[in-house]
Amino acid sequence: MPFSALGLHPDLLKGIRELGFIRPTPIQEEAIPPALQGRDLLACAQTGSGKTAAFLLPILHRLIGRPRRITRALVLTPTRELAAQILEDFNALAVHTALTGAAVYGGVGMGPQEHAFRTGVDLIVATPGRLLDHMRAPYAKLDALEYLVLDEADRMLDMGFLPDIRRILRHIPSQRQTLFFSATMPAPIATLASEMLKKAVTISLQRKAAPAAGITQAAYPVSQDLKAALLLELLRRQILGQALVFTRTKHRANRLADFLAQQGVRAERIHGNRSQNQRTQALAGFKNGRYPVLVATDIAARGIDVEALSHVVNFDVPAEPDSYIHRVGRTGRAEMTGEAFTFVAPQEEGDWRAIERAIGRSLPRVTLPDFNYQARAARPLEVPHAQRIAEIRARKAEERARARKNAARSDGASPRAAHAPRSAHAGPPRGGRFRPRTGRRRP
Ligand code: AMP
Repeated sequence: MPFSALGLHPDLLKGIRELGFIRPTPIQEEAIPPALQGRDLLACAQTGSGKTAAFLLPILHRLIGRPRRITRALVLTPTRELAAQILEDFNALAVHTALTGAAVYGGVGMGPQEHAFRTGVDLIVATPGRLLDHMRAPYAKLDALEYLVLDEADRMLDMGFLPDIRRILRHIPSQRQTLFFSATMPAPIATLASEMLKKAVTISLQRKAAPAAGITQAAYPVSQDLKAALLLELLRRQILGQALVFTRTKHRANRLADFLAQQGVRAERIHGNRSQNQRTQALAGFKNGRYPVLVATDIAARGIDVEALSHVVNFDVPAEPDSYIHRVGRTGRAEMTGEAFTFVAPQEEGDWRAIERAIGRSLPRVTLPDFNYQARAARPLEVPHAQRIAEIRARKAEERARARKNAARSDGASPRAAHAPRSAHAGPPRGGRFRPRTGRRRP
């Protein structure tokens, strides 16, 4: 079926054509017609299925005739990256219309977002927490809202956004069209959906949780200590091209990115402890090819949309089969092909079997020829927690000692030093905190 058969506005069809979309994906084919009729939707769709255009297009079609520069559509989504990506899709699809949109998420200044509310835009894409921050102020009114989208509802639940979503719901009109998207339907999500939706059309396309076809998946059994060396070898032999590499923790993401950089691999990292600016830059560098490797944790990787991403590597086996499906869905997007490799350490075999059960088949196990599986890693990637804390304590103590020494030295150099209270150079003052000494320069 061509896009023109869906009855979308010609200005949208123009935008779709320019994006290079030739025909609707299955989720678009199923979701767009009932949504155009004003029906609520409950859609089970995974990342990479084309779900963003599936909810944006019918909303844009319905808004198009009457842009009013007042928030009439709201998309709630779990992460900043996903919000930025949805806004990008909106801008591309709406390029030939007069409709306007803005993204509202944390980690960046409130000012420009407040400005968007005040000048008025037709569609807002928001993460729940930051939206609530704005909603405390009178300028962020949502009482003219006509369309609400919940995107990746299951992820929002995982991230603890359910109370925020309920709070937001109390402030928006109950008379509205709601499009509810989730990759999985655990019980709390089904309950939320039944509270929010009216006579919804249910769409569930994929077979029970399976990554898109076109993705070759394989397991690389390897000991925990040799995972970094194996990754390096796969990169050096060019078995891996542009690769998004997932680790279990932020700490492991840092250590792995450092290790790769030491070995001369251009690698960036993206995780929750990085500032928005760092995340944006890392992502931009990965997208434009400056960094062929991006090391990421699950949450930060939501919304990473890289065209023609060739490889996803699960450096650690995800504990949840759903995370596996989500991660692997980052490659082989929309009819492209990709490979997903998972490094499976002996202690992760149980989690790996659970994933194979969830996707309904066992995956090939690959051994890299001529790789020394018996070698000992030069340095383990993960320093045990207790050792890490001890290292941090030792570093802090060193810093404190250095600060005391410097303070004592600058006291010696100052003509007023003789008047300084003893505690200032004998150690922390009574409050226990070591105050900077700049104040003493005051006349
Ligand atoms: P999504 O599942 O919304 O994250 O979309 C996954 C990718 O598929 C994005 O890069 C979209 O730009 C792309 N895409 C969406 N719809 C189509 C389509 N009908 N034809 C080709 N690519 C599409």
